[in-house]
Amino acid sequence: MQDKLAYRLDDLVAACMKCGFCKAVCPLHSDIETTSPRAKVRLAKAIMRGELQVGTGVRYQMERCLNCRACASECPSGVEPNKVALAMRALYVEQFGMHPIKRLVFRVGLSRPRLMAWALKGLGLIEQLTAIELQNNPLRCVLPLVGLRQDKDLPTLGRRTLMSRIPERIRPFGEIKTSVLYFPGCAINFIYPEMGLATVSILRKLGAEVVLPHNLVCCSTPVFNSGDLDAARALASRNIEIMLGANVETIVTSCGSCGLTIKHEWADTLGVQGADTISRKAMDITEFVAQYFQERMLKRLDSLGVVTYHDSCHLRRGMGVQSEPRYLLAAAFGNHFVGMEQADRCCGGGGTFSIFHPELSQDVAELKVQRVIESGASIVAAGCPACVMQLRDSFIHRRVNCKAVHTVEIIDQALLSGV
Ligand code: SF4
Ligand code: SF4
Repeated sequence: MQDKLAYRLDDLVAACMKCGFCKAVCPLHSDIETTSPRAKVRLAKAIMRGELQVGTGVRYQMERCLNCRACASECPSGVEPNKVALAMRALYVEQFGMHPIKRLVFRVGLSRPRLMAWALKGLGLIEQLTAIELQNNPLRCVLPLVGLRQDKDLPTLGRRTLMSRIPERIRPFGEIKTSVLYFPGCAINFIYPEMGLATVSILRKLGAEVVLPHNLVCCSTPVFNSGDLDAARALASRNIEIMLGANVETIVTSCGSCGLTIKHEWADTLGVQGADTISRKAMDITEFVAQYFQERMLKRLDSLGVVTYHDSCHLRRGMGVQSEPRYLLAAAFGNHFVGMEQADRCCGGGGTFSIFHPELSQDVAELKVQRVIESGASIVAAGCPACVMQLRDSFIHRRVNCKAVHTVEIIDQALLSGV
């Protein structure tokens, strides 16, 4: 397993001095030591020394992680318990294999966007025929049978994908100032195409010629997080080949997780060839906007209500983006933009974590919802579709009247073209 990782696991584990600083910030740590990031590192050390075997108990502890990176940013020794947990999951997969359905999705589905779109169309048809997205639908009693909460907010599936709505190359609204490859990621392409349309619209308003290759595949985040490093490397390599061939100045993402993977994980975790070149070109959409826009290009949106901002873990701690979205929201909302306590605390989404650990995920969401309520905002913006999905679900679960949107949907509304 070590030969498939671009970092030295033994060095990472050896650096831990057992101080426990990571425990205080881990959203999943209860009073029990085995739930702490420190315990993950100690378990890994015991496994590497041959004192312990990898088994379902170890897998359970290692899967109990949102990959929010709070522990890594707090650690004085530079240990990254999230990466240790990831490596242990990969070791488990190497020894015991992966669930056949997960393996099929990772190895076949995620590398074939059209097939995924058809599969989602099938699920979307079931949604339409049963109207199961309606909260008072009695059919919802079947949801717990497939591991979902009965009141789970179900996004509309099977809509036209972003890629089927947009050509592979689009000119800006005015003269061409730069060229950008837009990487939307699976959540935006398949589930929230409106977030992708807003991103493309922003890029065009700022003078970018937008390239959106329709053969891009999943960025690989859920795949390596689940321990299938070979499949993750195959997806990364395919994307890198397409990106290098596009020959653009910048690569833009509007998903914190895709952005982190493209900017850092392809090189630092998977060690894929060509990843460094791509990393230098990659940035989040808010970084791009902050670079190109002037305040006179934004109209005020105060009348929409009071807005606050939630930091996606991967956007803030992974990509280092925190001031740009706040600056843009403040420019559009003036004093109707308010801060939130613990804005960088994880919302509990964690990609597929909320599907496989629904109760734990909602336990983490509790504090976030409280902080949103305390902020007094009626809208919360986030820079990652997975956070928006989790926030919407958490508000419905607690009957909180607050709207969660992607930051790009606000910026696009505020940004004037041709100014
Ligand atoms: S991982 Fe870092 S913060 Fe946590 S116990 Fe070890 S040295 Fe301390
Ligand atoms: S990444 Fe987040 S959830 Fe995972 S161990 Fe670290 S702090 Fe806890």
